[in-house]
Amino acid sequence: MIHYIMVFTDRAKTVLEIRYLLKNEKGEVIETPEQMFHRVANYVAQAEELYQENPSEWAEKFYEIISSLRFLPNSPALMNAGKPKAQLAACFVLPVEDSIEAIFKTLKDAALILQSGGGTGFNFSHLRPKGDVVRSTGGIASGPVSFMKIFDKASDIIKQGGARRGANMGILRVDHPDILEFVRIKRFENLSNFNISVVVTDAFMDALFKDDYYPLINPRNGEVVKKLKAKEVFDEIVESTWETGDPGVIFIDTINRYNPTPHIGQIESTNPCGEQPLLPYEACILGSINLSKYVKGGSIDFQMLEHDVKIATRFLDDAIDVTHYPVPEVEKMHKGNRKIGLGVMGWADCLVELGIPYNHKKAFQLAETVMKFIKEKSHETSQELARKRGVFPNFKGSLWDKRGTMMRNATTTTIAPTGTISIIADCSSGIEPYFLLAYKQRILDTEFEIINKYLIDFAQKQGFYSEEFINELRQKGTLRGIKSVPLKIKKLFKTALEITPMQHIEMQACFQKYTDNAVSKTINLPQRTKKQEVAKIFILAYKKGLKGITVFRYGSKTGTLLKVSDAH
Ligand code: UDP
Repeated sequence: MIHYIMVFTDRAKTVLEIRYLLKNEKGEVIETPEQMFHRVANYVAQAEELYQENPSEWAEKFYEIISSLRFLPNSPALMNAGKPKAQLAACFVLPVEDSIEAIFKTLKDAALILQSGGGTGFNFSHLRPKGDVVRSTGGIASGPVSFMKIFDKASDIIKQGGARRGANMGILRVDHPDILEFVRIKRFENLSNFNISVVVTDAFMDALFKDDYYPLINPRNGEVVKKLKAKEVFDEIVESTWETGDPGVIFIDTINRYNPTPHIGQIESTNPCGEQPLLPYEACILGSINLSKYVKGGSIDFQMLEHDVKIATRFLDDAIDVTHYPVPEVEKMHKGNRKIGLGVMGWADCLVELGIPYNHKKAFQLAETVMKFIKEKSHETSQELARKRGVFPNFKGSLWDKRGTMMRNATTTTIAPTGTISIIADCSSGIEPYFLLAYKQRILDTEFEIINKYLIDFAQKQGFYSEEFINELRQKGTLRGIKSVPLKIKKLFKTALEITPMQHIEMQACFQKYTDNAVSKTINLPQRTKKQEVAKIFILAYKKGLKGITVFRYGSKTGTLLKVSDAH
């Protein structure tokens, strides 16, 4: 039995004990969460020594923001800091080149990353299409989808001994000859360790808007294999997404317009949940500020936010220096660009504390204000670090170089899903609205009932709390149709399916505007949503300048990972 001093929910305690707290050989937990936070803070602060700074002074600062649950780094940092193989990054992208040797080298690298708790994205577009020639054997190529299946199977096996469920992103360009097979795959096969996304180009979107044809190109020789109507492929993407939640769409030209290091390479893939576009062999360490902790006297305490963003940014930069990389090429690339991704969680909680409905004009304005502030302060920190520690090694020729801004990190901001760390911090995840106000979640053998704590508080203070109210809420999950609840409260606690798709996109766009990398957001749709609506969402997302989009229609078939309930 471990003795808790800090206050955690039962659900957080279970997650911590299963996955995060250190155990002895008998599998018994041998540290408290406070000790875990000290382990993380002390380990990461060791990097300060490299720059002639005082590690214990910084360890204390890191511990203070982490143990107060105002900031948490991504899960691998919490799990692995201080261990012999301290791999601290959540996000990776590996190249997949067109030879058996290269494919299986990547599979091996992916296995090592998976074992360390990281998630990997793969773009399979360099592989020759199904049915193409294999000169060395005189045989026939089996195509990208067949290799993705091997990666999926391997993930199944490795995750059993690894730190957590394997998360992979499988990607194919819209102009690859096997695109239709790829787009449809989740309708017929489970591939439960893969999220999939189609890389869509500006040229494809132009062809779609003009109702024109576009070419499919064999990556082996650059030859045009055939032409397809853009609308035909787009409709297939919509159909599959409507039915299964996959594929998502990645707007690659938008991503590369913001690629800070085009001289090092073009971005072709993201990590598993889409929030982190990366070059082949690149990694990123994420961390999130818990915005629910910054509401003081009816407004946001920007002074405290600035203080914490600076420390958190420095923590993430330090984390790169003390990470044990499972793959040498990744170490070189990550240390060359030093990408970090500071983001937010607890956004829905923060809005409720401020009395602003998620889909109100003020919420969109505040999203921009808050994220702009976080981005500016973290860039300022990266610039201060650059003055003391030097710019990132690939700086020369980068967009930062062209702008004349010294930076320690090629990027500093990303909005992660925060699937698990938001459970530990007991806040709403990422920038998502509440999905339900009362629900049950199973973690291994234990079932937890979660009832929104802010709603209970409002109900008690405003006099609508009763046994009957809680029972009705348990049944419905939302406030819709519950007579005893004032209209104002109903508006404040609107859930994901009561918010329009356009409002979901608007929120994503507000955060994206001030985020260097990308934003994790699911456009959750009611089951009755029509396919045309999904098509409209994709087009709007493109026009709004988003880097990618994920749509999930409630009740649609899914074998995908990272629906919080089955990811742990
Ligand atoms: N991730 C993973 N396996 C998981 C969950 C997440 O590999 O089961 C990786 C993946 O790259 C994802 C990133 O971690 O995009 C961040 O996810 P999230 O914020 O939900 O992670 P947390 O730090 O809350 O565990």
